[in-house]
Amino acid sequence: MAVDLLDIIVLSVILLGTLAYFTKGSLWAVESEDFPGSGSNAGFGSSAGDEGDNDRSIIYKLEKNDKSVVIFYGSQTGTAEDYASRLAKEASSRFGLKTMTADVEDYDFENLDQFPEDKVIGFVMASYGEGEPTDNAVAFYEFITSEDVSFSNGESVDEKPLRNLNYVIFGLGNNTYEHFNAVSRNLEKVLQKLGANRIGRYGEGDDGNGTMEEDYLEWKDDIFADWKQAKGLDEQDAVYEPVLKVTPLIDEVAESDSVFVGEVNKNHLSAGNGPAKGPFTASNPYLAKVVKSTELFNSDSRNCIHLELDISGSGLRYTTGDHLAFWSQNSNEEVERFLSIFGLTESANEVIDVKAIDPTAKVRFPVPTTYDTVVRYYLEINGPVSRQLLSSIAAFAPNETAKEDALKLGSNKELFHSSVTQHYLNTARLLAQISRGAVWDKVPFAFLIESLQHLQPRYYSISSSSLVNKDLISITAAVESIQPEGSDHVLKGVATNYIFDLKKSFNKEISTKDAKYNIAGPRGKYITETATTVPIHVRHSNFKLPSSPQKPIIMIGPGTGVAPFRGFIHERAAQAAKGTPVGKSLLFFGCRNRTEDNIYADEWVKYTHEPENKNGPFNETNFLQVETAFSRESAQKVYVQHLLEQKAAYIDELLKQGAFVYVCGDAQRMARDVQSALARIISSQRNISLEKGEETVKAMKAQNIYQEDVW
Ligand code: FAD
Repeated sequence: MAVDLLDIIVLSVILLGTLAYFTKGSLWAVESEDFPGSGSNAGFGSSAGDEGDNDRSIIYKLEKNDKSVVIFYGSQTGTAEDYASRLAKEASSRFGLKTMTADVEDYDFENLDQFPEDKVIGFVMASYGEGEPTDNAVAFYEFITSEDVSFSNGESVDEKPLRNLNYVIFGLGNNTYEHFNAVSRNLEKVLQKLGANRIGRYGEGDDGNGTMEEDYLEWKDDIFADWKQAKGLDEQDAVYEPVLKVTPLIDEVAESDSVFVGEVNKNHLSAGNGPAKGPFTASNPYLAKVVKSTELFNSDSRNCIHLELDISGSGLRYTTGDHLAFWSQNSNEEVERFLSIFGLTESANEVIDVKAIDPTAKVRFPVPTTYDTVVRYYLEINGPVSRQLLSSIAAFAPNETAKEDALKLGSNKELFHSSVTQHYLNTARLLAQISRGAVWDKVPFAFLIESLQHLQPRYYSISSSSLVNKDLISITAAVESIQPEGSDHVLKGVATNYIFDLKKSFNKEISTKDAKYNIAGPRGKYITETATTVPIHVRHSNFKLPSSPQKPIIMIGPGTGVAPFRGFIHERAAQAAKGTPVGKSLLFFGCRNRTEDNIYADEWVKYTHEPENKNGPFNETNFLQVETAFSRESAQKVYVQHLLEQKAAYIDELLKQGAFVYVCGDAQRMARDVQSALARIISSQRNISLEKGEETVKAMKAQNIYQEDVW
């Protein structure tokens, strides 16, 4: 059959149309850059990209860029990436090593057995949730820990295929989780089994104890000493070597269409005043419309905000129990304080370009931009200051006294703790204190970009049900406000105070211009005539109701830990209303007292007509039982774990009926106390040893019958 040109054109058009239909536009959607939401500080970073077949080979990458050390990171919120970057920088500035950092996701590891003996690999790996690898490390972790892992030479494990590999390793974890630092510990075991040579000791940091920074500092000092000895490195005075170059663009103005003033990527910039294109992901947030925002507390000093967002038409999907990622910005006050201490107030809106000097480094925000934008939208300026930062910024102090004081604080762990950490000082406040107000205008802006973490989205457990309304997401956020003892300043949480301000602006309690944040967003795009919007994305979680609605559930969520359970309860109410039988749902909630912070209590009433009815049938108005621990209503503080123990027999009865247990909220104390209480309950009710009780709870966790959503 002859096919003429017209046929080909027609066929091509049909084919393209079909493709376009089935890919729902994703083929032509703008590819979003790897900006906030997926990375942390703007410093060293790899970008696998244009090397064809070799672009996923770290060996090729090192050779091509004349590097001898690569520090890989497995990072979820940017902290591990930050430590990886700091480690690489220090190895370079102290020992002249040619270093780079890299995301484990960007490389394949089959050729690890070919890794040159004269080079070193670092692994800075966070464990996430119940000892799982971070999203970017899943593939690498599965590969390296698999039973039948094999490398390009095909040698067996017994032949020690990684015998030429030299490595350093540091894990980031939280000891409140059962599988503390499971990822780095397992990786360490596997590397040893495969014959790799560790330089220095295995290191790990503990967020649960609040000692992550000091754990890291101790570890890196130890391993650098061993590394120096093992490889005969020459130590030099550590000098700051920029990896980024900041260039003022004097002919550009911030108002220009090509300058980023807070837009997260090109897609958002080029959208002008219209909506940005999807798909909306962790690197391309959606501007969701606020539909409701209310105060849940009845208090003069504490606030908790219920925020509802409309995601209709966005293509975003969530299921009950997922997380919302909220893209914050810094407050006007902190942006001004930061710009001022570095002498940048006058040049705040000048346009700058930021380029990587080192080809393996990556600028983690879009450029050209302005000083104000970088500080307001892209840097974590309000967070805790690292002791190491003080030691390195001392070189740029405005005077000798400030330099000495900075060095003293930077080198004295106890002094730093008592005069900085305990006072919740941020970088600008601390430097102003050290220099007695003198401006630190010798600090290169590139140094700040390289040293501070990238502003990360904050996560919130979604407090609505997707079954009730798939287009509406609500969150429940406690506003962070800490007045440290003996200090005259208040530390305001970055995102929650934005949410608080947003609530006031949305409800017209304040005008946008009186807000403490730039509620109107870059170029005023967040507020239109009909809507107030905020950038968000959705992160899926494994915190899920049992597939059978009939299963009983026990939910334990004091404070804002109740958030996902509001979603669970709404979901079950909707199922019951449709005639689906639902199982008994027992909620343990905790707050200070019934008048101040007993949040959502008015909603529970609708579903709890016969709270003592244990046997059902359970229907829309009778499936929920709420037990509330009021910690400040009696001389003895009562918490959720106490109530659990009071209901021991009933809990065990529900467990025997196959109840699922859910715990949400504080990871530090509550989650651990609840787990111990449950083990005691099982032990006492079943007449078995406490050890057996603990094993039973662990087994429940392994089978997902006991789930945690804690932070
Ligand atoms: P940040 O500015 O991030 O400060 C947080 C804390 O860091 C401060 O309280 C303080 O302890 C410390 N800190 C900050 N700056 C300094 C400093 N300079 N010096 C010393 N210490 C400092 N929260 C909710 O309210 N509701 C939820 O449903 C919820 N769900 C979550 C679900 C997940 C999966 C996760 C990971 C977290 C969840 N959170 C939730 C917590 C939430 O993500 C935020 O951490 C919280 O709201 C605080 O954010 P923020 O930006 O206001 O505070």
